[in-house]
Amino acid sequence: MANITLPSDSMSYPELFHVAKQDPSLSWPEQLWWAHYTFWDNDVLATGIITFLAHELIYFGRCIPWIIADALPRVFHRFKIQDTKPPPSVGDQWTCVKYILAIHFIIELPLIVLFHPMMEICGLQFTPPFPKFSLLATQVALFFIVEDTYHYWLHRAMHWGPLYRAIHRVHHQYAAPFGLTAEYASPAETFLLGLGTICPPLLLGYVTGNVHLITVLMWMALRQLQAIDAHSGYDFPWSLRCLVPFWGGADWHDDHHRYFWGNYSSSFTYWDILMGTVAGPRGKAMGHNPRR
Ligand SMILES: [Zn+2]
Ligand SMILES: [Zn+2]
Repeated sequence: MANITLPSDSMSYPELFHVAKQDPSLSWPEQLWWAHYTFWDNDVLATGIITFLAHELIYFGRCIPWIIADALPRVFHRFKIQDTKPPPSVGDQWTCVKYILAIHFIIELPLIVLFHPMMEICGLQFTPPFPKFSLLATQVALFFIVEDTYHYWLHRAMHWGPLYRAIHRVHHQYAAPFGLTAEYASPAETFLLGLGTICPPLLLGYVTGNVHLITVLMWMALRQLQAIDAHSGYDFPWSLRCLVPFWGGADWHDDHHRYFWGNYSSSFTYWDILMGTVAGPRGKAMGHNPRR
């Protein structure tokens, strides 16, 4: 923990942030982090608050630009992937917001509260200093690869009739997805696919003893941004898939919702290409699923 002496027990956030400056080895984000944990004086609560708030702010914050894009068809319609379908109505968007808030509070919040004890059992760190950027980036890249593999096989299994009807059908309610539909899924699907996000850092922390909570938060934030963008319904000349050839993005996942078959991966395209499950006309040109 940081080398700081606390002058009194009841101090505000700004006062604690000021006190944290006693340790010049800490950067200002590390000082802020120390102030947050010291203020709450309960590590489970402090981790829960920061994780849940980050989750809500990133989810709804990242959806706002897509809501604006849908409200301005004159400007953005030319970038719409399924451009013959009407944009989502206000009612559709409001239904999604209410459902997702229920899922976040009933399913995700308990998982988030449980995360700190699981993190301690697996030996993850949460006190300053933060890891070097190179280590953080390497671990996040690894989490993307592992989650994508888990997602591919589980998602493909969930398209098997009984599992589809019992678990996955809710997510396919919208054949033309929009940003807010990223986490529109049944509680069972939210839990099962969520394991692909939560378990890789816990396992890596358990094996190496060298994973920090800030890395996990960065990973969760980037995974959320990936999921929302994949459901946005828009493809731009500057979309990430134009820069990274094996990145799926909205262009890829939209075809999954449109054809109800193929493109099962979350982030990358290589599993579908290797396993012969590329959706739509692109897949047909590659000889995949010739029945469609
Ligand atoms: Zn699906
Ligand atoms: Zn989807």
